[in-house]
Amino acid sequence: MTQINPASPVLVTGGTGYLAGVIIAQLLGKGHVVHVTVRDPDQREKLKHLEAVAAASPGSIRYFRADLLNPDAFAPAMAGCELVIHTASPFIAHVEDPQRDLIDPAVEGTRNVLAAVNATETVRRVVLTSSCAAIYGDNSDIAGMPERRLTETVWNTSSTLGHQAYSLSKTRAEKAAWDIVHAQSRWDLVTINPSLILGPGINPQASGESYSILTQMGDGTMAAGIPDFRIGAVDVREVAAAHIAAGYTPEALGRHILSAHDTGFVEISALLREHFGDRYRFGKSILPKFLVWLIGPMINPALTRKMVSRNVGIPFTADNSKSREALSISYRPLAETVTEHFQQLIEAGRIKPRA
Ligand code: NAP
Repeated sequence: MTQINPASPVLVTGGTGYLAGVIIAQLLGKGHVVHVTVRDPDQREKLKHLEAVAAASPGSIRYFRADLLNPDAFAPAMAGCELVIHTASPFIAHVEDPQRDLIDPAVEGTRNVLAAVNATETVRRVVLTSSCAAIYGDNSDIAGMPERRLTETVWNTSSTLGHQAYSLSKTRAEKAAWDIVHAQSRWDLVTINPSLILGPGINPQASGESYSILTQMGDGTMAAGIPDFRIGAVDVREVAAAHIAAGYTPEALGRHILSAHDTGFVEISALLREHFGDRYRFGKSILPKFLVWLIGPMINPALTRKMVSRNVGIPFTADNSKSREALSISYRPLAETVTEHFQQLIEAGRIKPRA
């Protein structure tokens, strides 16, 4: 049981990120003092959405410069904090060097943040943004589970540096965090393991993977056919609320799957078409698996033939009962998440209607 004093400042790492922006906005809305690390606080353009939210909220914000690979960067930002929410980690589909671009910042970054936690006497709890990718890489990870069901007991054992390196980065980072917390007793760790996060963020021009997937649904990329990727999806507002509940619920413990809907690209595209009609270039039919296998790697280097063979068209389910019971999360309908997110892209001029 860890009671966090809500009047003490809370640190959120990776403040320029899609998810972090919504977490920070919710914390500011509740009146918290939020310390935020960013790689470069002098890039005011990247902070202007946070600035606007802070100006309209009862809480307050302070920025600190911190790169994940700098072991000395996080202690100044943590001073006086009882709660640390560590979201920063590269979420990039295209990388040149997976060790340098994904594994090192995710794993060394987590070690650096937690070394600073060990050195900061005030910290009592860390909430780590992990991922369903740390639970599940290929479908084979859940082949033995009833209904191919993801639960908090499962770990990704199928990802390697050459195959789904992002998933490996999240698995290794979360494992490193559990090793570090178990070596001491002053602070505890709660992880949030979201599936694909969608829904409007605070920055309509955000460039992360969640934004690019939804953009590709409507810009014609999938007009010739939609790959039958089975995914879990969850709204960014629920994921943010779960981080905050994990921080301030004394009995919160262990991993939490945040996944609202067992769905797929085909269903999401159909929801968007139903709401926005044929004004946008949504796909209608499923792209046969052999074509995804054939052309996937040319469209997106993350769509390797091994990844496509092992995952496309194979359904799974995610057990979100712990998030509902332990963190009191209630999930909104998928249609609301994807249509509000898509509307944000339209208003930002990022998706053009048919000529
Ligand atoms: P995002 O918008 O790309 O945010 C990533 C954040 O990490 C950015 O603030 C980025 O800073 C920071 N970062 C990356 N490398 C860094 C480094 N070397 N030093 C300091 N900061 C660094 O991605 P997101 O979707 O919000 O993801 C946030 C977290 O949620 C990540 O841990 C991700 O693995 C996890 N997650 C995301 C999803 C999803 O569907 N989006 C699902 C499950 C889990 P810069 O702006 O300076 O690059």
